[in-house]
Amino acid sequence: MKLYKVKKSNIDNKGLCANQDIKKGTKIIQYRGKIITRKKSEEDPKFDNDKAIYLFNLNKRYDLDGDFKYNTARLINHSCNPNCEVKGAGLKIWVYAIKDIKKNEELSYDYGFGFDEDFKNYPCKCGSRNCVGYIVRSESRWRIKRSKFYKSHK
Ligand SMILES: [Zn+2]
Repeated sequence: MKLYKVKKSNIDNKGLCANQDIKKGTKIIQYRGKIITRKKSEEDPKFDNDKAIYLFNLNKRYDLDGDFKYNTARLINHSCNPNCEVKGAGLKIWVYAIKDIKKNEELSYDYGFGFDEDFKNYPCKCGSRNCVGYIVRSESRWRIKRSKFYKSHK
């Protein structure tokens, strides 16, 4: 049985959710895509953006472009309080549970966007208690809390 299924998401259009209880540390789904050289990803205007959501760095020479329909893991949404992380293992990338996840809970990870002038174009609707309202990596969220755009949800 698969550990996940596609569902309508509370966060955005579509998402993945747990098809059964999942223990912390479990490999849930492979993040599939095409391996490209970093030289190529650096030159391709398609990736000329900090917010290249589907591009992952594998190592010094290679990136993985996951922007393909067959990559079901791309449906996973960002959350300010994620239950998964995306990690490389050799030239493969997997989505791992970083918490125990209950059946039917939506899967999410931190997209890792930096804080820059266009963060306002990436609102976050994850609904977690600690949501800062925008998709920004956890290490940079304090910057949002200091900005005039921050609206506390509490
Ligand atoms: Zn959020």
